[in-house]
Amino acid sequence: MNKKGTRFFGLGGFQEIGKSTAVIEHDDQIFIVDAGIQFANGSLTGIKGIIPDYQYLIDNEERIQGLFLTHGHEDHMGGIAYLIQNCNIKRIVAPSVGISYIKFKLDERKIKTNIEWIEIDKNLVLTFGDMKVDFWSAQHSIPDAYGIRFTNRNGSMFFTGDFRIDYTPIGSYPDFEKLEKIGQEDLTVLFSDSTNAMRPYHSPSEKDILKAIREYMEQAPKKIIITAFASNMSRISAIIKIAQEMNKKVVAFGRSMVNGINIARQLGYIDVDDSIFIDKKHVSKYDDNELLILTTGSQGEALAGLAKMAEGKHPQISIKHNDLIIFSSSPIPGNRIKIELLINDLYKLGANIKENKIDGYLHTSGHAYQEEHRKIFELTKPTYFFPYHGEFRMSVVHGRTAEKAGVNPDNIVIASHGEVYEMLDRKIFKTNDKIVSNPIYIDGEIASAKNTKLINEREQLGENGFVYISLLIDKEKADIVGRTKIITRGTLYVKSSTDIISDIRRIVHGLVLFTIKNSNDWTSSKLKKYIQERVKSYFYKTKRRSPYVCISIQYLDDLKFVTIPKEVNA
Ligand SMILES: [Zn+2]
Ligand SMILES: [Zn+2]
Repeated sequence: MNKKGTRFFGLGGFQEIGKSTAVIEHDDQIFIVDAGIQFANGSLTGIKGIIPDYQYLIDNEERIQGLFLTHGHEDHMGGIAYLIQNCNIKRIVAPSVGISYIKFKLDERKIKTNIEWIEIDKNLVLTFGDMKVDFWSAQHSIPDAYGIRFTNRNGSMFFTGDFRIDYTPIGSYPDFEKLEKIGQEDLTVLFSDSTNAMRPYHSPSEKDILKAIREYMEQAPKKIIITAFASNMSRISAIIKIAQEMNKKVVAFGRSMVNGINIARQLGYIDVDDSIFIDKKHVSKYDDNELLILTTGSQGEALAGLAKMAEGKHPQISIKHNDLIIFSSSPIPGNRIKIELLINDLYKLGANIKENKIDGYLHTSGHAYQEEHRKIFELTKPTYFFPYHGEFRMSVVHGRTAEKAGVNPDNIVIASHGEVYEMLDRKIFKTNDKIVSNPIYIDGEIASAKNTKLINEREQLGENGFVYISLLIDKEKADIVGRTKIITRGTLYVKSSTDIISDIRRIVHGLVLFTIKNSNDWTSSKLKKYIQERVKSYFYKTKRRSPYVCISIQYLDDLKFVTIPKEVNA
């Protein structure tokens, strides 16, 4: 009998952090693990995020058994709204916090579905023919995170999902038993979170972080403002409890913070008396030292609560001398400069700022360090290891940890997106197949490959500015009427620009007059093309720049028919 292997590939999440999306194909069934988004970095202005190309899934939608979600972070579930609008996903298997987040999002966008929702708990086991799926309760910076194991006749695959190990947690304890069981049952391949693979030792415990936060809160003479990731419900819950002990009232600002607290209260992750929360309209009724303010904006986001407070533009909160501001967060790479500017502004208002690491451990990311990685390898004893959810350098270092922990170096694979691997007889082979997995940019609400062109234009505008040229032509006389308008933005210093603008005007005039006087078959689009070429080459020769050139041509002959309405004349 011809034995059929289990195929798998990543559409996102290999050699990168973000848009985690893995696909497993077994017999005629497809299983998807996570459908994340990647947030755009600074250079992609205006772009909301990046998701993988879902075309393969769309083409094979009738085979999809379900989408399995490890946890409710955007880099694992931010693509779902786009996926389910294009592809029939009949079943989503996810933790309850994740389900709440997704449903909130779908409601917000008025997306209707008839998805079957299955809530993960650590004892859940699902079977799809020969495929068995079970779960590991992981510790992470959002409650309710899971690792997922797929087992069938060819072997087993275990995705840890995002995790870390905390021996003195605020939420759930590490489930070593299940990891041991996975190891005993002969794990073929492990996919594990490489985010902090380069950090030695062990990540700090949540208990120490809360101890430090509590000490600062107890010393604070005035308002306390804490900014943190809204999905870190266990920490936010613990901070609210400290506020309760100190007889403070709590008010939240920022959509994701308010929404996160609401979901956490509904699901019981925040369990305090309702009276501790006050409406933002009533803030002024309380003295400064009675208030704990939880706000978004730890990443320096311009529109978030904290930035508005720093600019003195927040409708309810003004920051005053001796207010305490705790950043229970750390900068996401790329945001550092924005955050430094924000912190400077807060210092100018006389606030007392506490930052992670500078002022003690006030935050830990939810991702394991090397010691924790070693523990995972020792317990699960995988035959093969694929670093996942980490940039290339992190993947390499994670591979070294795996090797030290006993994984055969020949079995450590840093995969690329779209590469198809096959598991057969508990061995992994790389196939020659390649699945299209190009990034798709989301502009506003629209995810389309066409956005790539748009982004290139924006990058060109951002790097080189633009030149706008507006001409009026009299066709009858074959002449240019009036003064040609030339506007540049982001291309030239105003001081040096006079010469350049007169150069461009001379070039354009010469070119246009020559064309319209000497040729009979010129058209607007031909003229625009000539001008584009000449102006671009002029800029390149003189300035080594290639601005975006935009041209408008109007004809006097057409304008003659435009009459001014009588009312305006009167
Ligand atoms: Zn996560
Ligand atoms: Zn993640």
